[in-house]
Amino acid sequence: MVVGAVNVDHVVVTGRLPRAGETVVGPAMVRHGGGKGANAAVAAARFGAPVRLIGAVGTDDVAAGALAELAEAGVDVAFVERLPEVPTGAAVIVVDAAGENQIAVGAGANAHVDPDRVRASLRAALPSCGCVLVSTEIPEAAVAAAVEEATAAGVCCVLNPAPVVPVVADLLRHGPILTPNGGEAAELAPDLATLAARSGAPVVVTLGGDGVRYALPGRPPVEVAPHRTTVVDTTGAGDTFNGVLAARLAAGDPLDRAVRTANVAAALSVTAPGARAGGPTPAEVAAALV
Ligand code: ADP
Repeated sequence: MVVGAVNVDHVVVTGRLPRAGETVVGPAMVRHGGGKGANAAVAAARFGAPVRLIGAVGTDDVAAGALAELAEAGVDVAFVERLPEVPTGAAVIVVDAAGENQIAVGAGANAHVDPDRVRASLRAALPSCGCVLVSTEIPEAAVAAAVEEATAAGVCCVLNPAPVVPVVADLLRHGPILTPNGGEAAELAPDLATLAARSGAPVVVTLGGDGVRYALPGRPPVEVAPHRTTVVDTTGAGDTFNGVLAARLAAGDPLDRAVRTANVAAALSVTAPGARAGGPTPAEVAAALV
């Protein structure tokens, strides 16, 4: 199960990112499916996991397309609510020649994901669920509902605190596996050991081109070297990482193996433009590991 945002991304590739007040021009605007929840769900589905997404879209002209694209990718969208009179979430993304990006999001329907619906959907699905992945581009009450339901049921729960919102600190007591990037980890605690001690659970920090560092409570951190690739677009690397991590944990992999697989999968995902393109299959990751 993935609980999180569904967006439509509007992407312009330019030579460099604009400064405040500046206009930069690229060849064309391209539209891709996006949103951390939806992206991770697609990555997990491509990795062979049966995936259900909990979230919301609008009833505008892009909503049907967004849902169809998810269904086509193998994501069950039965729990994605279609809300009247709010726009589907949208992001404006600028990507430079080095694959670095700037993103502004119009939350739209994502801001209306209802905590009670999240609880009801999860209760219906948890008995047959191996892992719940939650990200924070939806209301904090909905994030809390998802983490509480999953952990109370004893189901593996991965919380991607992107962005870091206040409720994340409260939710540490439920012991989700936390997956911040480097900046988010620094916002949450002075160091990895402190963060793992607070949650009493593994913390997995993604470090972009530097790979991954993870720690279990009371143990020294483990460094996982990056898988070297040609960077085209890093948008969604974290989402691919989280989707594949959750898919492998749901399938019963130990944490170390799941982290190493997700590290390679995320590295392969940055070789293609768009947040969802480039998300590899298990065979592609296996080939890269040889
Ligand atoms: P986010 O997109 O959430 O900020 P990161 O930038 O940390 O996340 O990227 C997530 C993961 O994707 C990294 O931990 C790594 O496994 C992989 N990754 C990202 N950028 C690169 C890169 N340039 N080379 C190799 N792997 C990368």
